[in-house]
Amino acid sequence: MLTQPEDYLDTETFARIKAAADQQETPVLIVDTKTFSRQLDHLIECFPYAKTYYAVKANPEPEVLSILRDRGCNFDVASRYELDKVMALGVTADRFSYGNTIKKARDIQYFYEKGVRLYASDSEDDMRRIAENAPGSRVFVRILTEGSQTADWPLSRKFGCHVDMALELCVLARELGLQPYGISFHVGSQQRDIGAWDSAIAKVKWIFERLKEEHDIELKMCNLGGGFPANYISRTNPLETYAEEITRFLKDDFGDDLPEIILEPGRSLAGDSGVLVSEVIMVSRKNRTGLDRWVFTDIGKFGGFVETTDEAIKYPLYVEKSGETEEVIIAGPTCDSADILYEQYKYELPLSLASGDRLYWFTTGAYTTTYSAIEFNGFPPLKTICI
Ligand SMILES: *Cc1c(COP(=O)(O)O)cnc(C)c1O
Repeated sequence: MLTQPEDYLDTETFARIKAAADQQETPVLIVDTKTFSRQLDHLIECFPYAKTYYAVKANPEPEVLSILRDRGCNFDVASRYELDKVMALGVTADRFSYGNTIKKARDIQYFYEKGVRLYASDSEDDMRRIAENAPGSRVFVRILTEGSQTADWPLSRKFGCHVDMALELCVLARELGLQPYGISFHVGSQQRDIGAWDSAIAKVKWIFERLKEEHDIELKMCNLGGGFPANYISRTNPLETYAEEITRFLKDDFGDDLPEIILEPGRSLAGDSGVLVSEVIMVSRKNRTGLDRWVFTDIGKFGGFVETTDEAIKYPLYVEKSGETEEVIIAGPTCDSADILYEQYKYELPLSLASGDRLYWFTTGAYTTTYSAIEFNGFPPLKTICI
């Protein structure tokens, strides 16, 4: 079965996206701001009690950031460059968290001077640097979580610490004159197992209790991270189901008196709003009787499709031609043999597909432009048009 646009976007939206793409050379990412707004409304509806800190790295287009600004959202940023970009749109310092646990002293200083007072940490080394360069600030400690098996793009292992260390870091923060404010985690991006939040929230509850009982420290915030789904080929539950379940986990552990709850969505907000349009450069076989048909297109791993690494994310793909189909291998345009998008997972495309035909990649609004390389083989960075 070939993908149809209406499996992913309503007909009117796709028509608008296609009309915008028709004016452009490929590759180009078209971001539909209406869809983005709708995703944001839906998230807020699903989690009415939570504060949103958008993960800027998912898609930092000014049009997208402005929607979040106007809806009163907050921003989780990972570098001074992201901070500058959002502040340039008139967002005040009280609406940021510096969520990266890996930061230089002078970067912390920069954030502090700009007025940011909320920092993530997962190590003593970093905590001491925060205390020195952002004195008196609120800090939240990121813990390690399970769930990398069921997340399509895991964010585990590199970030977070064990719960015992999280306890120690909160105590240390107080000693250093910081305000131990809360606990955060990220269960892995595109997390398909909602249960991953259950065990993470239970850990947070345990830390809250131990700190209160043993150290008279009262944490105020629980940061549930990102991990909420976008609509790719691999199925997930709808966001409502995530919200119902996660709310139940929170109430089971904290009762009706919930701490401040923070969400850091990226993919689930930006993903569905983007359609990346590329063009077929060439269709070939390696041998006259070769069974594999290769489709080369002008978007590749280095042009923004980094998340096709290990075929982790499978974007829905639509072409206008129909008729008899065949399984293909899809590869990008650069002179690097790692630049193969899908070989294990077989997309079915029409036999009539030929050079110059356009490919419409759905759910590409998150983690594409921000991953696109500068100057590999001289290709320019991926262009975005917001409509
Ligand atoms: C990237 C990132 C997010 C966003 O995660 P999604 O799965 O895209 O929603 C949230 N929090 C932190 C700390 C991140 O690094």
